[in-house]
Amino acid sequence: MALKSVSCRICRRELSNPKDPLSIDCGGDCWGCVGEIEAGMGDEKSLVKVREEFELGLRLNWTPPNKKIDSD
Ligand SMILES: [Zn+2]
Repeated sequence: MALKSVSCRICRRELSNPKDPLSIDCGGDCWGCVGEIEAGMGDEKSLVKVREEFELGLRLNWTPPNKKIDSD
């Protein structure tokens, strides 16, 4: 089965790009977009991960939500 080059339906980034940790294929959209949407909807697991990625400098366009969740 040949791998097709697929792009995120939202931001058009190439999916499953090993050089891009946010390009994980989440059913046609990249984790970069899906994570932010889920975090925005209040999904705590996604928010933790998105926040980690933000702190790693991977999500420069993301703004942490106002409501604070203590991580410890
Ligand atoms: Zn995307």
